[in-house]
Amino acid sequence: MPRQRQRGVGATGGSARTCCNDSWSLIAVSDIIICMTAVKVLKYLPAIIRILRAEAKRWTTPIVGTFVGEDHAPFKILISTVLSLRTKDKTTAEASHRLFRLAETPKKMATLSIPTIEKAIYPVGFYHTKARNILKICGTLFSRFSGRVPDDLETLLTLDGVGRKTANLVVTLGYKKLGICVDTHVHRISNRWGLVKTKTPNETEMVLRKILPKRYWIIFNDLLVVYGQNLCVPISPFCSRCKINRFCAKARVTTSR
Ligand code: SF4
Repeated sequence: MPRQRQRGVGATGGSARTCCNDSWSLIAVSDIIICMTAVKVLKYLPAIIRILRAEAKRWTTPIVGTFVGEDHAPFKILISTVLSLRTKDKTTAEASHRLFRLAETPKKMATLSIPTIEKAIYPVGFYHTKARNILKICGTLFSRFSGRVPDDLETLLTLDGVGRKTANLVVTLGYKKLGICVDTHVHRISNRWGLVKTKTPNETEMVLRKILPKRYWIIFNDLLVVYGQNLCVPISPFCSRCKINRFCAKARVTTSR
């Protein structure tokens, strides 16, 4: 393996291409070459998760997670995640509650008009498109799934406006089935730690599915989203206050506080 000046775990597909500075000690996991930076993060993952769990209590739960355990939870998680794309959590929360006050089942929501949905969800990003997608989703849930939200990733991905992030959240939070939801926070923080070295959230998900112990799959998103919203923020993270600082490679972090 040639020496490369990279950290983390690279793409899948049998042609693992990523290693780290300390490439004298590379380890093969499945069809991935994993470097010592990632090995270190994996070794200390139980401690990291313990710290993240304790820290998460200080902050508000992301809106989508608040629907767990409620009536029609998979449907609410599906619709609120669709609303959350490119939208701040507070705006998503207010829009979700306005919409669910009008209708909290696919059957009832399918009777709403597009302008009514748009008015309820405004000002979430792309609210015109999202209103149309929500109506299409409700129609599809009726015509193909007897009004029930599917519980498997591949079927969920056939719904309008539903990508891997949304589908994974429905599977994990709505049905408590295994999945890894990788959004912008999970993607960014996994790369900063040196656990992965990837370019897109989808690529990160595929690598995490190979190296992350299954017991952490469902909670990984919950913990990293809240950490990414409050401390490991996109620009200039608060590294000086971070309790997992010693485990973190700070890859691609150019300025911090
Ligand atoms: S040390 Fe900095 S970059 Fe690393 S997890 Fe903490 S806040 Fe994020």
